[in-house]
Amino acid sequence: MSTKKMPARKAVVDSNTCVACGCCMKVCPRNAITIPKGICAIVDQNLCVGCGKCAKECPASVITLEVYEV
Ligand code: SF4
Ligand code: SF4
Repeated sequence: MSTKKMPARKAVVDSNTCVACGCCMKVCPRNAITIPKGICAIVDQNLCVGCGKCAKECPASVITLEVYEV
């Protein structure tokens, strides 16, 4: 049996184009997103499970899901 783990996906926000609307924060099932000082969304990589809900919800399309080898 293979012991290779599946690659994990994590949400990444483009801090240059995020408009801090908070839409992503509201839909995250893990409460992994915060908007410190209302400037830009930040994803806690330890909490994010890569479900992609935030990326679908973002009106500015600035969230991408990046693959991480674990
Ligand atoms: S991918 Fe899912 S768990 Fe990760 S920040 Fe977005 S909504 Fe939250
Ligand atoms: S939904 Fe998009 S634009 Fe709005 S706070 Fe989240 S990352 Fe920024």
